[in-house]
Amino acid sequence: CFFQPRGAHIYNKLIEFIRSEYRKRGFQEVVTPNIFNAKLWQTSGHWEHYADNMFSFDVEKEMFALKPMNCPGHCLVFDHRPRSWRELPLRMADFGVLHRNELSGALTGLTRVRRFQQDDAHIFCAVSQIKAEITGALDFLRHVYGVFGFTFQLCLSTRPDKFLGDKAVWEEAEKQLADSLNDFGEPWRENPGDGAFYGPKIDITIMDALRRNHQCATIQLDFQLPIRFNLAYINEAGEKTRPVIIHRAILGSVERMIAILTESYAGKWPFWLSPRQIMIIPVGPPFNDYAEKVKDQLYNEGFVCEVDSDAGDTMNKKIRNAQLAQYNFILVVGEREQTAETVNVRTRDNVIHGELNIPDLISKFRLLAEKRSSEDVF
Ligand SMILES: [Zn+2]
Repeated sequence: CFFQPRGAHIYNKLIEFIRSEYRKRGFQEVVTPNIFNAKLWQTSGHWEHYADNMFSFDVEKEMFALKPMNCPGHCLVFDHRPRSWRELPLRMADFGVLHRNELSGALTGLTRVRRFQQDDAHIFCAVSQIKAEITGALDFLRHVYGVFGFTFQLCLSTRPDKFLGDKAVWEEAEKQLADSLNDFGEPWRENPGDGAFYGPKIDITIMDALRRNHQCATIQLDFQLPIRFNLAYINEAGEKTRPVIIHRAILGSVERMIAILTESYAGKWPFWLSPRQIMIIPVGPPFNDYAEKVKDQLYNEGFVCEVDSDAGDTMNKKIRNAQLAQYNFILVVGEREQTAETVNVRTRDNVIHGELNIPDLISKFRLLAEKRSSEDVF
């Protein structure tokens, strides 16, 4: 789908948010190709089970396909040189563009699209590190959903009847998952036998402001992909050892998260995400230049800022228009403000903050954006 400038602004702010958390939480971002030779998808098993959902085509008489997920590419990154236990856990993040060939009848708005990006990451770790990594993943998602004001429910899906791999490894992993869920302190339940054939998983269902449920985040263990790609690291004893892969995403598809947030916020985007942060309203044409000057200052600080200099509307009409368009803040400027180098601040909910000078205003805006506050409170 297309994102116009205001939509792209939200898109990028969401990615920026996750990226800033990656820095704090020891994830490293990689950039990987969109197109791979079908041989990769044969190795990963996607060609056998998922080929109908992939866009594939000939390149120089060989079959290639657009990636529907990042994991196989990340296995190549892991495997491009020998790995030591000292490098684990290795947390590899990727906002790469994914394509899935959904039936045209199944496409709906932003919730099911053929081209999307995820806040995708794969954690390559030792079996003994599963618990700590799951704890980290749960803490990460609690933080992100807290910012959005979502509550969530957790469900552990365990070994199905038809499973691949070693039963003892499954049991060890499931014990660690249950331990970290218990430590996490939020209620959770178990879906026995509902795991994927390649590993147990934690399903996370969020509830938005309208009390509707959505499944976005997943934390999926994978014992099979490391086998298919013959991945190994050298353990402390100098032996070749198979790592475990944890697939995890919190937003899930960025497109779909924007759909959920759009409805959840009902147009009232919090300041940090808002594509309409500030509208400046001069009380008359003589103050247009001052309004433009304030706009430039705020714009240069990284804020989304516009001036309504339409001479056809009254000041009150302009304020009303800006409030209806959900600009978080409306700054009115006239003779008094121009002389004092200030602005008169009010919110879209008509909370009057009164006169503020520009440096104070900038530091207040900056704090609001940094805190990713859900309320426009100074
Ligand atoms: Zn994956």
